[in-house]
Amino acid sequence: MTPIYDRVALIGLGLIAGSMGLAMQRAGLVREITGYARTAKTRETAARLGLVTRVCDSAAEAAEGADLVVLCVPVGAMGAVAAEIAPALKPGATVSDVGSVKRSVFDAVTPHVPEGVHFVAAHPMAGTEHSGPESGFAELFDNRWCLIVPPEGADPAAVDRLERFWRGLGSNTERMEVEHHDLVCAVVSHVPHLIAYTMVGVADDFRRVSEQEVIKFSAAGFRDFTRIAASDPTMWRDVFMTNKEATLEILGRFTEELFALQRAIRTGDGQHLFDYFTHTRAIRRGIIDAGQDTAAPDFGRGARKQ
Ligand code: NAP
Repeated sequence: MTPIYDRVALIGLGLIAGSMGLAMQRAGLVREITGYARTAKTRETAARLGLVTRVCDSAAEAAEGADLVVLCVPVGAMGAVAAEIAPALKPGATVSDVGSVKRSVFDAVTPHVPEGVHFVAAHPMAGTEHSGPESGFAELFDNRWCLIVPPEGADPAAVDRLERFWRGLGSNTERMEVEHHDLVCAVVSHVPHLIAYTMVGVADDFRRVSEQEVIKFSAAGFRDFTRIAASDPTMWRDVFMTNKEATLEILGRFTEELFALQRAIRTGDGQHLFDYFTHTRAIRRGIIDAGQDTAAPDFGRGARKQ
């Protein structure tokens, strides 16, 4: 494949950046990948695992001369990192990110993007509950969606190029407007995470009463919540601090639905529960038909590494 960019810089070298580095190398997408992370430990691990071709001592050094610079740090750190790399950016380069929230990243990054440099945001809808450089793997983005979120008036060629890049990493892509992105992600990702965190917290309170039974007898439903609730605390704190409006909107609707189900249980309205669960089962089937999850019992756990 002809390289899409000559040099790509990854700022932050955790799960997402590490997976991008490996996927770029797998596909021969670029000629050189530079990378930087704030701690020496992460930089050393990234070098040892060959996540990038050159690990640098500063974000500015990694960004210098790069055709694409991708910010792969927690959402709350995007603005400070953008300020740090700004003087090193070459004219015509593209700055992008992988943040889970878009409005706040736009507001934090845009003021630092110099004239003649393009900014095109992106969000790979792929991840695991693991974080750090050791957790990256080349297949993470295969057949997963990557949302491309260009600002109004973005350079069409820069947007096309970034979209081709993400397809080269294995993703399907779709373009989305910034506010719509934040609302969609609140529904499909942010609020579900909050609910999982809450349920595990509730069970933990209960465990104090019932000793080890919650852990010992944990059935699939609760176990799956614990997997989601093991996600990185920094990343998820930042998501809720920055996608406040959309999260609260969806959480409000969730609470209303929950009250309706609670009422059905109290009043013995089995038909309401049956109809509701029939409808939600069809949604699960739709996700499997779209190739976004496995139909194997127990999520194919027996056959999978993680
Ligand atoms: P991660 O594995 O925890 O890696 C984060 C990286 O950012 C690390 O290299 C870390 O450096 C660096 N970093 C952390 N705080 C920083 C700061 N204040 N200043 C500079 N660098 C900092 O996280 P990740 O899962 O790859 O997530 C990265 C981004 O991808 C986040 O914006 C997240 O919202 C987004 N995202 C995540 C997922 C997911 O499921 N994980 C999915 C889609 C998008 P050190 O290791 O040296 O501390």
